[in-house]
Amino acid sequence: MNLTVKTTISWLEKFDEKIQVNKDLLTDLDQAIGDGDHGINMSRGLTEVMKTLESKSFQTIGDLIKGVAMTLIGKVGGASGPLYGSAFLKMGAKIGAKEQLSDEELLEALKEGEQAIIQRGKASVGEKTMVDVWSPLLEDFSQETHINWEDLKVAAHEKMTGTKDLHAKKGRAAYLGARSVGHIDPGAMSSYLLFESLAETMMEGENNNG
Ligand SMILES: [Mg+2]
Repeated sequence: MNLTVKTTISWLEKFDEKIQVNKDLLTDLDQAIGDGDHGINMSRGLTEVMKTLESKSFQTIGDLIKGVAMTLIGKVGGASGPLYGSAFLKMGAKIGAKEQLSDEELLEALKEGEQAIIQRGKASVGEKTMVDVWSPLLEDFSQETHINWEDLKVAAHEKMTGTKDLHAKKGRAAYLGARSVGHIDPGAMSSYLLFESLAETMMEGENNNG
């Protein structure tokens, strides 16, 4: 199924729902190894994104994604706003005026988002950050022309739980060193929720189209 403006909105609505449901979990994860603000920041951010989607209409996926980016950059504090914001900004720029995206084009856009996160966060794979979901996941599916979304969802979950075993090398968690082991990275969890939302939206679309 191709991603359209309508399904992109469904993806974001689902992401918002999952962030609100998991707000306390994200807070708990960030309290264990960070400053505890990830749940509040993401919850506030997605509430603002939903307001943006209600107040404006978007003709292209690129415009929609850029609108989301500007909201996240402008309204979300902590590290997560700028990280997700720059990811969406680069994705929107890559997508441009397209009204629908094939799986390959969507993967290319997500890859741009991943690069933005790496540049902005100056993090690489294995440092116990959201990069540990984005990079290996997109690498796994980089050769796919048609994504099996159930497989992607399962893979995203594996990458997220895999951050539990990593030593933090970035941000506040880095001060904990070995004591950060045993805790899932909160940014990896919210990134998992983003990919889970995308996978579920795409699977629902495929089912609706028979
Ligand atoms: Mg934090």
